[in-house]
Amino acid sequence: MDSSQFDVPKKLPRIALAHLPTPIEPLHRFSQALGGPSVWVKRDDLTGLATGGNKTRKLEFLMGEAVASLADAVITAGSTQSNHARQTAAAARKVGLEPHLVLYAPGGKPPADSNGNVLLDHLLGAVIHWTEERAPYSETIARVERQLKADGKNPRVIPYGGSNALGLMGYAAAMQEIAEDMEELALPPFDVHIFATSSGGTQAGMILGAHLTGMLGNTRLLGISVDERDATLGPRVANLVNDGARLLGLDWRVNDEVADINDDYLGGGYAVVGEPEREAIRLLAQTEGLIVDPVYTGRAAAGMIDLIRRSEFRSDQRVLFWHTGGQAAIFAFTDQLN
Ligand SMILES: *Cc1c(COP(=O)(O)O)cnc(C)c1O
Repeated sequence: MDSSQFDVPKKLPRIALAHLPTPIEPLHRFSQALGGPSVWVKRDDLTGLATGGNKTRKLEFLMGEAVASLADAVITAGSTQSNHARQTAAAARKVGLEPHLVLYAPGGKPPADSNGNVLLDHLLGAVIHWTEERAPYSETIARVERQLKADGKNPRVIPYGGSNALGLMGYAAAMQEIAEDMEELALPPFDVHIFATSSGGTQAGMILGAHLTGMLGNTRLLGISVDERDATLGPRVANLVNDGARLLGLDWRVNDEVADINDDYLGGGYAVVGEPEREAIRLLAQTEGLIVDPVYTGRAAAGMIDLIRRSEFRSDQRVLFWHTGGQAAIFAFTDQLN
């Protein structure tokens, strides 16, 4: 299918929040240091919203819907250092909605260290509802929603990670952007795309967008799992793809195998920085001056580095690494990175 036939945005509510298209650039010195395929980076850390990241693409659609539904507040949820929560708070401020964040912390108490994204949440004036509940934080979100409604507000709930049928359209549109990038660069499609995958919306959107632009099957979309086993995340991604297809009125459906997920790099668990992440962060910093984050992109880069060392890709192949952001969190991990 000609990519110009595919127009996700026009059918759906959308508010411009991201600096698009994001840059795409070769990582010559990093590729050379590894001696494998030629690695490029898609700079989705530069989407621009309060230090940027991948959630901004999703929020263009999610905030579009919140505004269209005449909401006056939004509620979302995440872990303590949630990049999604911080970007949602910033997006809400930009369109004039009151941001409410349900954030996990041990004991449900405000953490002693409020650096990184928590500092930004405070500066953005987000109302933080600390909770001990874990993802998807449904009970606490419902409680905050009831409270806001009782106060006469009209809140809109944005799911954790911004991962629903509407949010994933941000990454369906990103694949269209990639198709345009390739045209501009006069290069054939990348052989492999590598990115961190967690709540699944980014991966699902990429799969849907790759289908719509005719790239699915010609290019590998490899998600490096940050916190979950393939057996759990695969079906979730497939469900999201199908929800997205339904929203677009397509007959196309996928099964669980559609999601290419590598769960070999879970290390000590979510947000536990190990030697692979430390090495990946230093290697990209010292070969390219590029900073990746300790939780998502550092782990995905560590996985990519290991796969390159294991000759998973041929040296004549081209790999696109998606930098999905998260650098703000790095300042909350000084102990584990110094
Ligand atoms: C949320 C996040 C991801 C994962 O995206 P999902 O759509 O949740 O799978 C990757 N990188 C960063 C920096 C993130 O904040």
